[in-house]
Amino acid sequence: MMRWIGTVLVIAFVARAAPAQERKTEFVFLVTADGIRHQELFSGADPALVTENAKESSGIEDVEAVRRAYWSEDAVTRREKLMPFFWKELSAEGIVLGNRSRGSRVKAKNSHLFSYPGYAEILNGAPLPSIDSNDAVFSPRKTVLEYIREELGLERHQVACFASWRVFDWITRQSESTIFSNAGYEAVPEALATEGMSIFHRLQMQMMTPWDSTRHDAMTFGLAMEYIRAHEPRVFYLAAGETDDWAHERRYDRTLHGIQLFDDALRELWTYLQSTEPYRGRSTLIVTTDHGRGRNPDDWTSHGKDVPGADEIWIGVFGPDTPKVGEATSTGEHYQSQIAATMLELLGLDYRSFNPSADAPIAEAFVQVEAEVR
Ligand SMILES: [Zn+2]
Repeated sequence: MMRWIGTVLVIAFVARAAPAQERKTEFVFLVTADGIRHQELFSGADPALVTENAKESSGIEDVEAVRRAYWSEDAVTRREKLMPFFWKELSAEGIVLGNRSRGSRVKAKNSHLFSYPGYAEILNGAPLPSIDSNDAVFSPRKTVLEYIREELGLERHQVACFASWRVFDWITRQSESTIFSNAGYEAVPEALATEGMSIFHRLQMQMMTPWDSTRHDAMTFGLAMEYIRAHEPRVFYLAAGETDDWAHERRYDRTLHGIQLFDDALRELWTYLQSTEPYRGRSTLIVTTDHGRGRNPDDWTSHGKDVPGADEIWIGVFGPDTPKVGEATSTGEHYQSQIAATMLELLGLDYRSFNPSADAPIAEAFVQVEAEVR
């Protein structure tokens, strides 16, 4: 009888994702870089912005220096110059969605297309209607980070967020007591601090950015790596911010520098995860952004509901449970709202119990097993 039922199920699902118990992922690292456009990710420095004529639109101070650092006539070479680690190493470890010229589109579903609504969509599996500003208000519902901590029975410090923008202290949780967060010009409390953090605690206050609510990404990355080494978090969220702020300032040179710095942080993180226990072979990295930006020399600095292209984003998933396809082609459309379910699926948790209105996991991010048909 059982055998007969089994056979029927097998026929119904010829190809399916490997069941949770066969998954290798035990640790999930979510990494976002605020407002990196798919244009830069897939094609490197924008030809419309890196010219002497475009100086006013791009705000580049030394066009020759930018050309030396990032330029090639060939888009693939350009993106490898901008993000050498992402394109020469990381992309081969999983799947990169969002290259619209190859028939892979990723969109934000929320109607606002600025930061908090985007991060809320990422962390809750669906847009949150009450989040319609960047105000520092706690999440109105349990985020995927809080849900994972509860479901897996983890300690507070085992689920952590390090972010450059201070509002992440609110975005990631319903209250301070649920998960650990360090965001903006903030020090790690003594109980969790390490000797190596003291240099960043001091420097972040001495070398300030032009913005009161966003510290340098270099400080965030330094603190994050210290924390990971010391506390071995099970789920970790790293959020870069400068990539967006320099674009709003209309400084394309600094925006490119911020993207390159981000690429370097990915290299340091991934290299650590691949070479160190308990992470080696058991960690999945999800890399994405909260929104797109405008498409032309006037509006590339901006985003929001009135900026065409601001809903266009990208997602990369890399790790032991993801097929090694690199840049995806002809995948149709994916959504920012699928990230939460993808994180849960990797850890063997049911996304519908987390949020009945959450979108499904990204199927292409999971190795499919061919079931035997009898
Ligand atoms: Zn943003």
